[in-house]
Amino acid sequence: MTTPDGFPQPTPRPLPAALAHAAGGPRYWLPQQQSAQPPTSTTAPSGFDVEAVRRDFPQLHREVNGRPLVWLDNGATTLKPRQVVEAVSEHYARETSNVHRGAHTLAKQATQVYEEGRQAAAELLGTRDEGEIVFVRGTTEAVNLVAQSWGRANLGVGDEILVSAAEHHSNLVPWQLIAAERRARIRPIPLLPDGRLDQDAYRDLLGSRTRLVALTHASNVLGTVPPVAEMTALAHRYGAKVLVDGAQAVSHFPVDVTELDADFYAFSGHKIFAPTGIGVLFGKRELLEAMPPWQGGGNMIDSVSFGETTYAPIPHRLEAGTGHIAGVAGLGAALRYLAGLDREAATAHEEQLTAYALGLLATVPGLQLIGDAPGRIGVLTFLLAGTDPMAVAGALDQQGIAVRAGHHCAQPALAAFGLQSAARASLALYNTVQDVDALVAALHEIQAAA
Ligand code: PLP
Repeated sequence: MTTPDGFPQPTPRPLPAALAHAAGGPRYWLPQQQSAQPPTSTTAPSGFDVEAVRRDFPQLHREVNGRPLVWLDNGATTLKPRQVVEAVSEHYARETSNVHRGAHTLAKQATQVYEEGRQAAAELLGTRDEGEIVFVRGTTEAVNLVAQSWGRANLGVGDEILVSAAEHHSNLVPWQLIAAERRARIRPIPLLPDGRLDQDAYRDLLGSRTRLVALTHASNVLGTVPPVAEMTALAHRYGAKVLVDGAQAVSHFPVDVTELDADFYAFSGHKIFAPTGIGVLFGKRELLEAMPPWQGGGNMIDSVSFGETTYAPIPHRLEAGTGHIAGVAGLGAALRYLAGLDREAATAHEEQLTAYALGLLATVPGLQLIGDAPGRIGVLTFLLAGTDPMAVAGALDQQGIAVRAGHHCAQPALAAFGLQSAARASLALYNTVQDVDALVAALHEIQAAA
């Protein structure tokens, strides 16, 4: 249902008690002012059926603190559809076995599931070469792998690593560690006041000493989506490699590493509806093949003797030890689930919801949004004047609304705005106008009570 000017009619919710009193009795809260361009409809062009999707996510149907759960902490982790829960359960209940080693039926089945998971990850990222997909614990481990293996082999005294100021600590600290060891230098790519990366500064920073650019594909604090393809093309002109942190990107919009021409691309399963403890590092074949092993053990060798040890081809050479087999089963299920949706429509739904949320948040007195880059994802970090972010999150939690507060493991990004802490509501494809209405009504209530 829409208002005459095309704005989606929020589901009526009782006015927060304090406001209802002030208004002289119960009525329903409706947005008065919009600063952002309102969406014309909450139904994506090809009809993304958010309610059907929500039915697949059991946790969306539980209560927290006596209220229906409103999950707006997707930046921290996403909920899992029952297809993922069932795939993990099925693995442990019926198919437990190690992979790649056994000659028996269950080992073959587990190996098939494992390699199908790799194939699904390759499809998600747009590579046809499954050898370019390395299983890791998550984005953090992927970046550490590249830093410890590629970095140790390729960085020398005075070499430079450009790291954007928007990065999660997991795409900064591993570079600091290896830079200290190799006596290389980290140089930050600064932020503009609206949360975009400063492209002029980036061009100035690039030079003959640049070896690597570490770049987020979507900021977990600002929602910014940098122009990764353009920035990568520029880096390549200087012979530098580019590692893209896709942790916040992959669940929000389709990604194609071939189009981006990324040298490395990392993501975590748990941020794309899959289990924790499993993630993916994509690396261009020629780079992975040239990288020395970073961990030794089973699974990664060709032959071992006290005289000489030789290594398995990629990706196994970079996957020492038994992997997270159930995690890969879940990851495969999550990626197949996602592939079964109309991704363009899902992205359009999220974009419309983000615009809707931005419009409503602008009506909350004293609310300051951090970051305003065009084309942002639905990561909405904010301050509420006079209330500590942790207290904001606590008050929302009392109403069953889950948001995050703190430094979001991106202290330099917050510091660029003079902050140490902020609250963050982050959207996913299963969120609705009603979720946003609940958040905004609760924020009005907190402000009225303050
Ligand atoms: N990069 C970004 C942008 C993130 O948001 C996160 C987690 O919040 C990470 C990396 C780290 O992911 P993980 O802890 O799954 O390794």
